[in-house]
Amino acid sequence: MLKRLTAVLLTICAITVPTACKPIDTKPVVPVDITVEDFESGKDAEVPPSHTTPPLVITPPETTAIKAPEFARVRFAAAGDNLIHSSIYKQAASRSENGGYDFSYAYENVAGLISGADIAMLNQETLICNDEYEPSTYPLFNSPKALGDHMLDIGFDVFTIANNHTLDKGVKGLLACLDYWDARENAVVAGAYRNAADRDNIRTNEVNGITFSYLSYTEYLNGLTIPEDSDIIIGNALDIELMESEIKKADKISDICVVALHWGVENSDVITDYQRQTAKRLSEAGADIIIGTHPHVLRNIELIDRSDGSQTICAYSLGNFISAQDVGQRLIGGVLQFDIMLLLDDTAQERDKRPVFTGIEFIPVITHYDRAFADLRLYKLSDYTPELADSHGVKTGSAFSYDFIIQTLEKNIDERFLKLS
Ligand SMILES: [Zn+2]
Repeated sequence: MLKRLTAVLLTICAITVPTACKPIDTKPVVPVDITVEDFESGKDAEVPPSHTTPPLVITPPETTAIKAPEFARVRFAAAGDNLIHSSIYKQAASRSENGGYDFSYAYENVAGLISGADIAMLNQETLICNDEYEPSTYPLFNSPKALGDHMLDIGFDVFTIANNHTLDKGVKGLLACLDYWDARENAVVAGAYRNAADRDNIRTNEVNGITFSYLSYTEYLNGLTIPEDSDIIIGNALDIELMESEIKKADKISDICVVALHWGVENSDVITDYQRQTAKRLSEAGADIIIGTHPHVLRNIELIDRSDGSQTICAYSLGNFISAQDVGQRLIGGVLQFDIMLLLDDTAQERDKRPVFTGIEFIPVITHYDRAFADLRLYKLSDYTPELADSHGVKTGSAFSYDFIIQTLEKNIDERFLKLS
């Protein structure tokens, strides 16, 4: 990336300030390294003082000012599966004072991770059927409207809904779920569509001058199928050519294409060759960000090199964001955060859409509950303690301890990205 910056700088020098880059008389040319951090901090590159000659005062004509490249920047956050088992919505019901649901206790310790991002994306694994059905748990989920509203309240704005549970309540339930989301104007929702025209209307948003597009696909529907007389469409992760063609369309109408994949074998933290090959193909097709979910456990985050010199960031599985599962490893998830930077060049005929990713951090989140799933709530690992781990209700049936959490994280997440404190 620094090479790209240097090239841009040299180009700007060559085009706009032909004299500014020439050596001055016999004075040696001092190599100047300018980094992204310099641009970010607004400071100029420092030139070491000369020890042999007095300071040379030059008053450049106004036209010789070098304009530093400008970047558009967006802080992006993504969380894994929001898996709302009955203990979660029953506890929310018990905390509500008006007969509804209050989910704030469960999420309040991590809400800042979400609200602090410019864009926050969540895999809403369970349907929200517009309160047209009673809430229900595994294996056929339906979550209250109040759950979705609370996710919007804490700052999520993009929701992916192509999951193995998308057909849990049939076509009617999915249409009710789409009604719910359609009424939430601030929500960008991808992955399930009323018909082909709806699917072809690729979801986008614009933040800080960067246009994002969103696609969402699943490998599984838990054996359920869409009836032949229905027009609904659910993103199909098994059709790689279809994904490639939709990514190419999305790439044309956006700067950054985000692809959510609900994929992989549950409870396995192994990234398969198939996943790597698929991610590479989608990357070459134009996917800039790939967010994987479904296995309930973490798989690593990788930067995939692309033939145009840029990279795709791929999280193979972000694990569960929240759940009431009863296996220790499935209670260790997290939020992936990073900055996306795009070069802004007013003189270019076309925008350079190759992203630069900086500040990549995986912030672990622990789902904690007491005995029998009581008082289920999320903690950032930085706020979690060995004492809490020792009191975790999961310990009655599964290995769990603070050391187990650290070992699991260090095994699965690259240390470059893992933020343990
Ligand atoms: Zn799933």
